[in-house]
Parts: sequence; structure tokens; C-alpha cells
Amino acid sequence: MAVSVCYDKDQKMVITGVDCHCGSVHMPIDKDIYIGKGLIENIPAYIEKKQLGKNCVLVADDNTYRVAGADVEKALADAGFTVVSCVIHRDGDMLPDDLSCGEVLLSITRETEFLIAVGSGTVTDTTRINAERTGLPFVSVGTAPSMDGYASAVAPLLHRGLKIQRPAKCPEIIVCDLDVMATAPMHMIASGVGDVLGKYIAKADWQLGQIINGETCCPVCVEMVTNAVNALVDNVDEIAAKTEKGMRILIEALLLAGVTILIIDNTRAVASIEHNIAQYWEMILVQQGKEVPMHGASVGVSTLLVWPMFERFAREDLSKLDLETIKQNRISREKRERWMKHAYGEEGGKQIMRENPGDFLTWEEQERRIRAAQTRFADIQAVIAAMPPLEKIRQVMETLHAEMTPEEEHIPMDLLNRSMHCGKDYRTRYTLFKLLSECGLLEEYLADYPYPFE
Ligand SMILES: [Zn+2]
Ligand SMILES: [Zn+2]
Repeated sequence: MAVSVCYDKDQKMVITGVDCHCGSVHMPIDKDIYIGKGLIENIPAYIEKKQLGKNCVLVADDNTYRVAGADVEKALADAGFTVVSCVIHRDGDMLPDDLSCGEVLLSITRETEFLIAVGSGTVTDTTRINAERTGLPFVSVGTAPSMDGYASAVAPLLHRGLKIQRPAKCPEIIVCDLDVMATAPMHMIASGVGDVLGKYIAKADWQLGQIINGETCCPVCVEMVTNAVNALVDNVDEIAAKTEKGMRILIEALLLAGVTILIIDNTRAVASIEHNIAQYWEMILVQQGKEVPMHGASVGVSTLLVWPMFERFAREDLSKLDLETIKQNRISREKRERWMKHAYGEEGGKQIMRENPGDFLTWEEQERRIRAAQTRFADIQAVIAAMPPLEKIRQVMETLHAEMTPEEEHIPMDLLNRSMHCGKDYRTRYTLFKLLSECGLLEEYLADYPYPFE
């Protein structure tokens, strides 16, 4: 049965057709997701339905409080809730750092029964980690369709100036009011679109993992994300005009990406090499104390960078590979360790190697993968052929005046070049870049991104 998304009379998302026997464990979708107009005044009823209690801390920043937080607070107070507001004031942008997390923590008392985040990435992640550490449930009221993390269970945070990812909680209730979404500035909307466009890469990499390594690839999650991203590409004018239909398609795509994380309990369907590269930029820029581009905007730019590699690989002649030469040119374990520490820092490099112990391949395993790619090249070509033309993706981004190049994001050249080489090393997750490396082709493909390392 095909996956389908509809809404009940309360504008709650109902997803059907998710029965699946792909072999991976599937969790039930037990979170309430509401998308529609005029939803803010219904929030007390949504909370009562889930029996989260009457006593809450509402988290917002100055901007999101003005856009929706004050209305949410009033709706809750009118319905008899006790609301402690934690509105975070900053001169510049609020960051998900020690100070913000601490402010939320100190607003929580023994009486607090649940948290409610009114905002997008930063506010939600700051609340999410507090919900996790206090064991309290939380509600997310979105203010911008700028990223796919609303339904996520991981919080990217800044701890003592370093970028960290911490396991956290998914909201029990997510409310995305389309009128509120439409107030988001165009660069935030373009960022959300960039985050969604990256799913084409994530999907192709997942299917490559299935072809080369027999990885389980969930067809339901693939279908869910594919439908969502295709709808977005086909309706970019509606999104650019911020129509109700356009806002619904965009936020639905961002939330459905999150729903796949809920179902299979990992981010395989939504993040691959394009996220690794974007996150690497973010990590290094944070370390350097520089301004960081929006997450989805970076994902959009890195998607444009890696896309041509897929198109080129589809035209490759793998029968020409010389296995003896590939074997001789293999990176040694010692050099790889130096490379990982160089790229990710002494601590970071060690940690990645510890968490991904199988990433240094034996020659036998590498050879097996090369032969699998040779034998199943037609299947690989079919995966790539299913991607839309790169030109179409560029048009979507241009229509939204999205950032298109690393220069526009102020990514220094050496950082860009390094990220293209080390993005594949961030985790075991299989990618075209890993396959290129295993086939001895990566350096050739990355000739435009020279990064000599001895
Ligand atoms: Zn993302
Ligand atoms: Zn499945």
C-alpha cells in the first residue's frame, strides 16, 4: 500500500500505508503533528488530549516570542494553564549554548510538568536537551520552515564553544501554524528547502549501501521522503510566494523527514555526505569563532557540490579499474589515523575512529566492494538515473534566492577542499564518496578540490 498523508478534523497529520517488512525494526508514530491555519488557540486542547499536565515552562527568544510565543502563552493562560515564560534575550542571534540551556534549566521548577518550545532550530534544541535531562515531555510550536529537526531526537548544541550532538527527545506534540510559517523571512525558507533537497543525496547513498553492502533500505521511509521532496520541487513557485499550499508542502517535507527518524530510529533517510560536509563547515567555523551559515542553507550548497559526482559516476567504466594499482595505493592504517586527527582534531579524530571501528577496510573487503559495484553497476546507474537533473535543483534554489556557492557562505577555500575529502570519513554510513574512494577514483573526482596530505 502506498504511503499517504492526510489530516483529520483537528488538522492532525494521519500517515497511512506505513506497514513494512523490510527487516529493520519500525517504531509506531506516536507523536501528534498538527499542520494548518489558526492552530495556536487549539494548543491547550492538544495538550489536554495528551494529558501532559497544566504547569509548563514556555521557551522562546525575543523574535519567536513576538511572532507566536505571546499568543501561545495567552492561549494557555486563558485555558487555565500555569505558564513560566523563559524568553531568551540576546543582542545577536540566540545560540544553543551553555548559557541558553542553563537559562531554561533554571526556569524549570519541581512543579513543572512539561516544556513548550516556540521557535525553530535553536529554541527547540535548547528545550529538547532540557526535556531529556529532566525527563519532562515537551511540545514544539514551529515558527519557521527552516530545518528538519522539529521531529528529531538529537540536539546539536554548543558546549564550551565546541559543536556537540546529544541524544535528546522528540516532542510529544508538534504544531506548525501555516500563517506563522509564512512570516518567516525568505532566507529561512530557502534554508528549509536546502535541507529537503539534500534528501535526494541521502536516498541515493542509502540505496548504494543496499547494493554494495546488503544494507537494509526501508522502502516506506524512502517513499515518504521521495514524495515529499518531489512535491517541493514541483511547487517551488508556491513556496516562493509563501502561499498556504507552499508552506504546507515545505513544512510537511521537513516533518516527514523527521517521521522517518521516528520510524527507523536513525537518520539514514535524511542525512548523508551532504550533511557531513555541511556539519564539518559548521564545526570548524564555530571553532574559529566565525559566523556560521544556516544549517539548511549549507546542506543546499553541499548538495550542489556532490551532485555532479553522482552524474559522473553513472558514466564510469568500472571494467577499466586496475585492482593491483588500487591495492598498491591504499592508504595505510597509520596514515589514515594521522589524517583523521588532522581533519577532525586530536580528540574528534580518535572518537570517530573509536565509534566506527570497521571503517579501515581490509583489502579483501575493499576488493569485494569493488567487485560488487562492477557486477551491479546497472543497479547503481538506475539509482542515479532516478535523481532529477541537477539543473532542476539549481532552478529551485535560484527561485528562492538561496545561497548557491561556498563563497556566498564565506567558507574558506582550504576548509572547503578539506571537507570534500574528509566528509566521507565522519561515520560508517555508506556513501558514493566511500565507493569512489574504494575504487581508487576519489582523488580524480576531487581534482577541483586539491588537498594534499602526506
Ligand atoms: Zn538537516
Ligand atoms: Zn521498512
